[in-house]
Amino acid sequence: MFMSESKEKRIKKLKKKHIWPSIVGLVVILCIFCAVMISALGLSGMDIVQGKLADSSRTSVKIAELFADYDLGAEEKVEQTVLSHIDILEEIEAVSVVDMDRMPVWASNGEYPAIDETITIEFLSELMEEEIRVILTEDAEQVFFIEDGELAVNERILKELFSVSEWRAATPFTQLKLWLVVPVNGLEVMVLNNVSLYHQDFLMMGICVLLCGILIGIFVIYYLISIISMVSSVRKTAKIIYTDMVTGGDNWLLFIRKGTNLLKKNGRARRKYAMVHLEMRKYRSFCTCFGVNKGQELIEKFYVALKKEMERKEVIAHQENAEFGLLLVYTDKAQLEERIQRLENVLSAVLPGMKVYFGVGVYFVQPGEYDVEQLYNNAMIACEMLGEEAENKTAFFDVEMNNQKLWERKVEDDMDHALANREFQVYLQPKISTSEEVLGGAEALVRWIHPTEGFIPPNRFIPIFEKNGFILKLDDYMLEEIARIQAEWLAEGRKLVPISVNVSRAHFTREDLAEHICAIVDKYQVPHSMIELELTESAFFDDKKVLLNTVQKLRIAGFPVSMDDFGAGYSSLNSLKELQIDVLKIDADFFRGADVEERGLLIVSEVIDLAKKLNMKIVAEGIESREQVDFLTEQECDLIQGYFYSKPMPVAEFAQKYGE
Ligand code: C2E
Ligand code: CA
Ligand code: CA
Repeated sequence: MFMSESKEKRIKKLKKKHIWPSIVGLVVILCIFCAVMISALGLSGMDIVQGKLADSSRTSVKIAELFADYDLGAEEKVEQTVLSHIDILEEIEAVSVVDMDRMPVWASNGEYPAIDETITIEFLSELMEEEIRVILTEDAEQVFFIEDGELAVNERILKELFSVSEWRAATPFTQLKLWLVVPVNGLEVMVLNNVSLYHQDFLMMGICVLLCGILIGIFVIYYLISIISMVSSVRKTAKIIYTDMVTGGDNWLLFIRKGTNLLKKNGRARRKYAMVHLEMRKYRSFCTCFGVNKGQELIEKFYVALKKEMERKEVIAHQENAEFGLLLVYTDKAQLEERIQRLENVLSAVLPGMKVYFGVGVYFVQPGEYDVEQLYNNAMIACEMLGEEAENKTAFFDVEMNNQKLWERKVEDDMDHALANREFQVYLQPKISTSEEVLGGAEALVRWIHPTEGFIPPNRFIPIFEKNGFILKLDDYMLEEIARIQAEWLAEGRKLVPISVNVSRAHFTREDLAEHICAIVDKYQVPHSMIELELTESAFFDDKKVLLNTVQKLRIAGFPVSMDDFGAGYSSLNSLKELQIDVLKIDADFFRGADVEERGLLIVSEVIDLAKKLNMKIVAEGIESREQVDFLTEQECDLIQGYFYSKPMPVAEFAQKYGE
């Protein structure tokens, strides 16, 4: 499937509406026209011919009756009789009389009818016995019967009648020579009659057909016009469906269609394709500074610039915001990187004097892969992995990225249920005092005991929660759990040590954070001094005002506040100057790696010195060896947290091991 089925159906519906009724209408009208023509021609043609033949037969009968008192042997009398009725005879061509033995008796023009003996006479006589009158054409090929006054017509004659070329010619367009044989007074009188058919005979029929034709013509024109307008409206709709409103170029749907076609027609993968997602970073900030209209103008210019760079058998379309999809042909990775670099330069030139950065995600299309949306999704996933740094960067998709995305989806699907289901469990890691090597505190660390995935360490879900905001709920939950546990232990009369909880930087967007924390802890009536709040140094890069205020309020309320991971990433001694805190947690990074060890240790001792001067307690994290412990003890570091003493453990185990 290359486009969601419902999407495809909707597009088809939009494009195909209205056209079928017109086509069906046209076909129906044409069928009616043909039916009317055939029946009009057939029926009226038949009527006219039958009328003429009936006239002719009546005339012939009248002639035959003249011979009613015919006297054999008195031929002159016949002449006279015939001559006295010359007016009637004028209507006919010839008359001949035969006696019962079929011997010729008299012929008007001295000739007897040239009737084919073998067929016709025999045939005639048979019919005669049944007293049926027969009419023959001259060549005796067509036979008409008059039966009870009705005429049955041989079909071939009819066809001849209508093989007409000139409609209104005054001359007969066909002539029928008809012999009528009438038995009279022991004789057979045979009358040859000419029946001429003129076009005028068919005039009424012609007028009918003409009117019918005009009517049908009007319908046909109407339907043709409506089909043409339908086709043009379908074209217009297609244009709307496939045009991007921001750039005026191809839109995403067309990109999918063209892209799919290109990939499918790329027989045996002659060309290598790469699906590329290209986005301008901080587009929203650009719109905030310069307005949305300027932003859209920029997208249009980007599109035009990119379009110019496209080669044959490549496609491009605007996706959303300042994002573009490109299906590019490449030869190898280095060539593609160069091409992308060139595209970035072209785009940068659109905004001279302003620094813009682009993030690019690339997926190398494999032979047999046609699902453009899926391929683009892969390119986007690659780009998402880049982060938001201010520089041009390109990421190439690998399967691991996809797995990570799938994992993120799973975590997000399960997290709410997990929280309600108490799948998140508190582990405690002791902090041991250097002076007496006794428990001086602990850190609460979360573990997810998933019903199907089992034990999940925090680094597999905390970063996801930090991205989607769920960390706020989880931290509240952890804080409440610690408050509850401390209250329980207090009630049991145990000696409490401060337990620290992690407060993610995401919390520092809410101005009433201090009040919120107090409210949770106060539900359990635990002394604030027994709950320490660990903030990471990265929180210092966000809204400083909220941070400084919150820290101040928390300290006034009696909560110890510590700075976590000091020294990891961007350390800044500046933050120590600005912010008054109680505890400094030195990151394990200082103690890792042989080559930096000495310098690291030197820095640690300086930092400890400085912190002491600033009246802070020092906790060293990630301590794994006796040497490290000895060194820190020497430097008068206050507490040590690390595997050397203990890994984080479930609350019950902790209570048993360190309970007093
Ligand atoms: P963190 O706050 O810096 O926690 C210390 C981490 O170092 C813990 O990892 C701990 O198990 C580990 N650790 C302690 N001693 C040693 C050692 O001697 N060697 C080594 N290699 N590691 C040591 P963990 O529990 O996997 O937690 C990782 C991170 O997850 C934490 O780093 C913290 O940033 C975050 N996290 C854990 N629980 C929570 C939570 O409830 N809320 C928030 N916001 N973050 C949490
Ligand atoms: Ca911590
Ligand atoms: Ca830490």
